[in-house]
Amino acid sequence: MNAIEQAQWSIAQSNELYGFERWGNDYFSVSQNGNVTARTLTAEVELMDIVNGMLERDLQMPVLLRVENILDAQIHRLHTAFHSAIDNLGYKNEYRGVYPIKVNQQAQVVEEVAAFGARYKHGFEVGSKPEIIIALSTLEEPGSMIICNGYKDQEFIELGLSAIKLGFICVFVVETPTEIPIILERSRALGIEPIIGVRIKTTVSVSGHWNSTSGDRSVFGLTATQLVDMVDLLKAEGMLHCLQLLHCHLGSQIPNIQDIRSGIVEVCRFYADLVKEGANLKYIDLGGGLAVDYTGWGSNFGQSRNYSLSEYCEDIVDTLKNTFDDYDIPHPVIVTESGRATIAYSSILIFNVLDTTIFEPARLPEPREDEEPLLTRMRDVYGNLTENRVQECYNDAHFYRNEARELFKRGQLDLRTRSAVENMFLDLLHKIADITETMARVPSDLEGLKLSLADIYYGNFSLFQSLPDTWAIDQLFPIAPIHRLDEEPRRSAVIADITCDCDGKIDSFVGTEDVAQVLPLHELKEGEEYYLGVFLVGAYQETLGDLHNLFGDTNVVSVRINRDGSYDFVKEMHGDAISDVLSYVEYHPKEMQLRHRNTAERAVREGRITARERQQIIKLFNESLNGYTYYEKED
Ligand SMILES: *Cc1c(COP(=O)(O)O)cnc(C)c1O
Repeated sequence: MNAIEQAQWSIAQSNELYGFERWGNDYFSVSQNGNVTARTLTAEVELMDIVNGMLERDLQMPVLLRVENILDAQIHRLHTAFHSAIDNLGYKNEYRGVYPIKVNQQAQVVEEVAAFGARYKHGFEVGSKPEIIIALSTLEEPGSMIICNGYKDQEFIELGLSAIKLGFICVFVVETPTEIPIILERSRALGIEPIIGVRIKTTVSVSGHWNSTSGDRSVFGLTATQLVDMVDLLKAEGMLHCLQLLHCHLGSQIPNIQDIRSGIVEVCRFYADLVKEGANLKYIDLGGGLAVDYTGWGSNFGQSRNYSLSEYCEDIVDTLKNTFDDYDIPHPVIVTESGRATIAYSSILIFNVLDTTIFEPARLPEPREDEEPLLTRMRDVYGNLTENRVQECYNDAHFYRNEARELFKRGQLDLRTRSAVENMFLDLLHKIADITETMARVPSDLEGLKLSLADIYYGNFSLFQSLPDTWAIDQLFPIAPIHRLDEEPRRSAVIADITCDCDGKIDSFVGTEDVAQVLPLHELKEGEEYYLGVFLVGAYQETLGDLHNLFGDTNVVSVRINRDGSYDFVKEMHGDAISDVLSYVEYHPKEMQLRHRNTAERAVREGRITARERQQIIKLFNESLNGYTYYEKED
């Protein structure tokens, strides 16, 4: 903030400040030019390069950028981490992964998961008929798993049975006892043996946001009694050998590895007793929960995680091995359904900043012999500014500012003097806020001061469309400028979107050690765009987004980074046009055009405009209707 600090700012300082290396999982860094790069094992590309490529292709901001290589690398890392844990610990079975489609159902993403996962027979977890249809039309490798969760009707079950015929390992995970008769009836009718799984309720309570997905009150899974009844029913029907998989899902984004361990121990108990009951169990499915360290703190804070991927895998394999060895039960195939951790890293939301509001004195009055006494009093406050007296100065500044407003109302102070007092007041608050920065204990009045003086940066995006979890569950995503990182960011800001909704703002950020209420940003430069990236947004954000203020889907670009450091646009999809979002809410753009034309025609008839003007007005309307819903800059 202080213009005197002209010391050389280094890229390393930016790296430390924004934490690319803490939360980036090796996928993001800063180049010598001060630009953020996306990197793979073999190559690195500046995001600004890609942005320029988008602009050349008339893909305006905001854009959701997907980097294929990152998704590829994440799937690879997941499998190699499990494989090496299995090798190192002498576990006597294999690992199988499935991707839960609900985490990001976009066709392009699901197709990429299928393509990159094929070499590991990575399968899908599905929870509805649309999702199993996606799985059946996307998976190619026979032997890949399809795990069917959720409530399944006859048709869903028939689709699953047909998957078995096609060579997939398609498992019906029973979530409620009523599904069992339908599964048995359909499989007899079609003459296809089902593979049955069962979801259990665990009793461990897991910390983090999604803790209600496990435990007694979980809406999912069978109770111990329901499980016993299920075994009896399958036994009576001579179908107990079809019960092959045990499933549990402790929750999503589990920050604490201890919770995962204790959950698994309990699942193993169920597994062992079901084996004793005569079930032909072969698979243990531990669901999702592998967390993403959004903050990079490596802690058990809800949006972090206190373990690495390899610790996660080793803890699972180790716990399973020891427990099953104790029970003298053959090791099952380990299945996990990691969604968030698989997909989060590969997407970045990029937007430009449209404008800023700053709360700073425009100019300060020069001292004068004959100045208003109130201005002199304000000057005295400056003289008292020390750590011991900040509270007093804060009170005085308010007192004189309020006094100025009162005198103005009564006509005893002119507009220029009032403006001078207001400017000095703002200046004093900034100075007080600076002092509190270094104080060990800040008086409670002054705690939010920095935040109340923060700039507002207006971003060209909709929080509700692109970052719904920020609004809904206070999810933190790392946010940083994608360029100018060789310059010191001298502003402190909060970010507002363009929905003109007071909830459309971001005022919690990933700080180095704690949640920060402001984000350091650079001053805008005349005639130059300023781009921010919101990172790790691949999971759960795209489908939950809504059409607040009718801002639609953003443009989406998928790139592949080549070994030589170049990149290819693999896919580009233009976001919603205004006519698209209008038809989502049941307008008919064709009719709208017609009615607008009639209004224009009447204006010609009644002499308000000429026929030529009518043409222009209609052209503008039609072009807008086909245009992007976000703020577009003319070139
Ligand atoms: C949502 C969900 C997942 C994915 O969980 P992540 O924490 O994103 O890995 C896996 N399994 C089930 C049953 C789910 O409902």
